[in-house]
Amino acid sequence: MTMSAAWQYDQGLPCGPAANAAKYLAGEAGFDACQQAVMTHGGFGYAKEYHVERYLREVMIPRIAPISPQLILSFIGEKVLGLPKSY
Ligand SMILES: Cc1cc2nc3c(=O)[nH]c(=O)nc-3n(C[C@H](O)[C@H](O)[C@H](O)COP(=O)(O)OP(=O)(O)OC[C@H]3O[C@@H](n4cnc5c(N)ncnc54)[C@H](O)[C@@H]3O)c2cc1C
Repeated sequence: MTMSAAWQYDQGLPCGPAANAAKYLAGEAGFDACQQAVMTHGGFGYAKEYHVERYLREVMIPRIAPISPQLILSFIGEKVLGLPKSY
């Protein structure tokens, strides 16, 4: 999805929907991976020495900024699917 969005951008095509979808999916995939890493380490996943707790904290950044998952879903709902504004 990221490569598709980048290709659309490079071609000068409208890439808002693809870029938003790519950012959403990448953020959620990163979060899922870090959460799974903590859970896989069990109690040690919470310990600083194993670093995965830091990854879980830091992976929140690509979810929060520059736009949150909820606002991406709102963008896709409104601008791509033509649904009425929900907020
Ligand atoms: C490390 C870091 C660096 C940053 N750097 C920059 C920077 O360089 N330049 C810059 O301009 N900004 C920067 N930001 C700010 C960033 O863009 C915002 O934090 C981000 O857009 C989220 O906005 P907010 O913090 O106001 O949270 P809010 O918009 O208040 O979001 C809080 C929660 O409310 C939800 N929410 C908000 N509105 C709706 C809605 N209409 N419907 C449903 N849910 C909603 C969100 O999804 C989220 O869960 C940075 C943030 C961080 C953490």
